[in-house]
Amino acid sequence: MMNETITQKPDFDFDNFTFGLQATDRMLVARYENGTWSDFKIGPVQNISLSPLAMCLHYGQTVFEGLKAFRTVDGKINIFRLESHHKRMNRSLERMAMPPLPASCFIDGIRELLSKESKWVIDDPEYALYIRPFAIATESKLGVDASREYLFMVVLSPLKAYYSRPLRVKVETDYIRSSRGGAGSAKNGGNYGASLLPQRKAKENGFDQIIWLDAKERKFIEESGTMNIMFILNGKTLLTPSLSDSILDGITRDSILNIAPEMGLEVEERAIEVAEILERIRSGEKVEAFGVGTAAVISPIKEISYKDEIFETYVNENADMYRIKNKLADIRRGLSPDKFGWSD
Ligand code: PMP
Repeated sequence: MMNETITQKPDFDFDNFTFGLQATDRMLVARYENGTWSDFKIGPVQNISLSPLAMCLHYGQTVFEGLKAFRTVDGKINIFRLESHHKRMNRSLERMAMPPLPASCFIDGIRELLSKESKWVIDDPEYALYIRPFAIATESKLGVDASREYLFMVVLSPLKAYYSRPLRVKVETDYIRSSRGGAGSAKNGGNYGASLLPQRKAKENGFDQIIWLDAKERKFIEESGTMNIMFILNGKTLLTPSLSDSILDGITRDSILNIAPEMGLEVEERAIEVAEILERIRSGEKVEAFGVGTAAVISPIKEISYKDEIFETYVNENADMYRIKNKLADIRRGLSPDKFGWSD
């Protein structure tokens, strides 16, 4: 964990801003050429220039990550699970035939950028600094192939911890997010581009979000929007789909699976038929449903719509999902012991 004294806050309205519009002052850039990453630089945030033939603009070799830095109660900066994000970035890069990033670039680079931008990690439990590492193919060449040149960049953007209101979600039975053998477990830009139209259509029909099903049978629950999905059954069992190459290996998901047993919950990771969840709700069981991911941490689901039928889940301020959210927040801020070594 970095021991940075809190200097003056940046000239920025931390009480009133929209996430994603503001970058901090500096960014990190590294270049891949002739088989190695080099030219590592931290400098002012600025536009980049690319050839119109740059391969990322045509063939989709783009990979990104998303993680957060917090100010702990003793004034340090905690980059939450930096190593896990590095590993996942490299898995995504491998799937997209892109070169892996050495720890000296990803881990040391992000630490150094954060130490230079430490004033943006303000001491406020309602706040985090979002870290967006990404890599793109830059070789100037038409023709479908793996690029031989890449850029790796990291930008930072302030993020207010937000309370996600309980959502109405639709089980998507036409479109799919990813399929077995596909690239759904990689954080590749194309996965997100392909999800926008179904998401827009769901919104037009009055839903906040989508529950994605498996591509083959449209029977098993995979994810919710750009979050992993979890259920808590009767306040006892935390249930989530097991990982596969069509599900993104969420780091919030993994964190929750680790802390759930010590919160008195049994963990079940397995294939989950949508029919099972609907049947449980129909028969009066108490079913909590929620998305889990870095940005909102927990997004409660209040209604699941399946083929025009609406099923109401259990949402209440005493729900177990909120206990989980608070526990994670305490670990990140150094209020609860970091047994798993998640604090960087
Ligand atoms: N699934 C998808 C498709 C995602 O894009 C994300 C991240 N936004 C997640 C799950 C959650 O992953 P994490 O907990 O690592 O943010």
